[in-house]
Amino acid sequence: EAPLKQDFVRQIVRDDLASGKHDFIRTRFPPEPNGYLHIGHAKAICLDFGIAAEFGGTCNLRFDDTNPAKEDPEYVRAIQDDVRWLGFEWHELRHSSDYFEVYYLAAEKLIRQGDAFVCDLSQEEVRATRGTLTEPGTESPYRNRSVEENLDLFRRMRAGEFADGSRTLRAKIDMASGNINMRDPAIYRIKKVAHQNTGDEWPIYPMYDYAHALGDAVEGITHSLCTLEFEDHRPLYDWCVDRVDLAGHPELMEPLVRRGVPNTAAKPRQIEFSRLNINYTVMSKRKLMALVQAGLVDGWDDPRMPTLQGIRRRGYTPASLRLFVDRLGVSKQNSVIDFSVLEGCLREDLDATAPRRMAVVDPLKLVITNLPDGHEESLEFPNHPKDPSFGSREVPFSAQLWIERDDFAEVPPKGFKRLVPGGEVRLRGAGIFRCDEVVKDEAGEVVELRGSLDPESRPGMEGANRKVKGTIHWVSARHAVAAEIRLYDRLFNVADPDDDSDGRTYQDHLNPDSRKVVRGWVEPSAAGAEPEHSFQFERLGYFIADRHDHAAGAPVFNRSVTLRDTWAG
Ligand code: ATP
Ligand code: MG
Ligand code: MG
Repeated sequence: EAPLKQDFVRQIVRDDLASGKHDFIRTRFPPEPNGYLHIGHAKAICLDFGIAAEFGGTCNLRFDDTNPAKEDPEYVRAIQDDVRWLGFEWHELRHSSDYFEVYYLAAEKLIRQGDAFVCDLSQEEVRATRGTLTEPGTESPYRNRSVEENLDLFRRMRAGEFADGSRTLRAKIDMASGNINMRDPAIYRIKKVAHQNTGDEWPIYPMYDYAHALGDAVEGITHSLCTLEFEDHRPLYDWCVDRVDLAGHPELMEPLVRRGVPNTAAKPRQIEFSRLNINYTVMSKRKLMALVQAGLVDGWDDPRMPTLQGIRRRGYTPASLRLFVDRLGVSKQNSVIDFSVLEGCLREDLDATAPRRMAVVDPLKLVITNLPDGHEESLEFPNHPKDPSFGSREVPFSAQLWIERDDFAEVPPKGFKRLVPGGEVRLRGAGIFRCDEVVKDEAGEVVELRGSLDPESRPGMEGANRKVKGTIHWVSARHAVAAEIRLYDRLFNVADPDDDSDGRTYQDHLNPDSRKVVRGWVEPSAAGAEPEHSFQFERLGYFIADRHDHAAGAPVFNRSVTLRDTWAG
């Protein structure tokens, strides 16, 4: 059984259940559908869904779709796909835009309470009067409009009478607050843009902080987890929740109840944790979007992208990501995680779950001269060295093999343990081979090795036990299937591509060797795999049959991760 996870968020939940503050917990994952999810979001997903499940509660997937300009149904679909792929299922699928009517009624309530006013200042004027960290802001000249005038103007904003940006509804809080978020922040703006969910119905849209807080309250979220940059927004979050008091005002929930949504409104609590940062990558939707649009990667699901769609295609498994998030834990401490930690989690998962196969990515012909030319046999190989439940497979063997070019050295570097002229090497599972002849082409390049297989060293024979320094893998040239093999590496060649202090941007730090496509050879049982099946290609690394491009007759494999950490920085 997994040990109980201990962190400050889970401790709060435990305490709230123990004290009776809550007898049931509700969380939500609230992405804005303005891009694809990335590894950072995986942390939030694992916490929101994971904590709900651990404590017998529920987690909603809520699209915080209050900014019509940047949102798209394509993202809405991809996000659902990603959450399910990670292994989670939402209790309910919600859209913040489904609550627009509730938000609107809540805003009228704020106006009637004297807690909000319609302001005619332009965006620039608002910015200029907001003050600074050390200087208080200046009150808007429209701040003391009467409730009647505010209600009239707000209703006319809603009716579409005014131009974009000409007016806002602002919360009336405190222009001298030490927290700039509390200096009469806008809660509605005029924006005559069609919305992916509500179409042309609304000419005004609620601002993020207001909508987010009320969205949580509508759903009765008990613990609203978000990243640390929202810590300074918490006073505004609490202000919105308290002043509107959805739980105490069922009439505000009427628009939803009429549509059959039960009223579960309650007061939520926001809890912030540190975001996940990883080196050698960028994780902002804006920058990822720019890479796609500039054609610097092959789309959102390019296997080098840190998007969930990208790393899925790269061969990352849901289990490896959950392991990664668990291993990092949850805290308020900001840090940058080394990319190798993520890779280590993938190796750990695939070591246990990926069957072994043989493949050659940089082929050199090897001919066994003491076997008849047409010799063919079938050798039985275990599919996993440590787990017999994986069973075994037949691997075709013949007198002509492909081996890796760098498993041979004419002039061996010091400590070289593989094949050299006149030397011996063990051909994995087949016997001991001695290199008698090195065949070169006119340019002097080695094109073939010829030699003999020790007949006393075949599998199961006494002579197979004699010591030779190296063991190399191979595939039978006659039986292997040609495969496109994509050797991926890190997308950036500096640890912090976001650092532009030297005038160079992240786009200047792309690793030119992040993708190499080669033609290799794989044993038949790998070629026939279904898309998205992962293997360890012995001695090379973990590879996945490409989700889109792989077919049994024309295999395409992506390298997910090498066997060991080989990154030189
Ligand atoms: P980005 O800044 O990359 O554009 P975002 O924060 O704007 O992402 P949202 O769609 O608003 O993206 O995020 C949904 C949830 O995921 C939020 O609760 C947010 O706090 C969380 N989240 C986003 N990035 C990270 C991260 N790097 N680590 C942990 N949680 C994150
Ligand atoms: Mg956001
Ligand atoms: Mg953001």
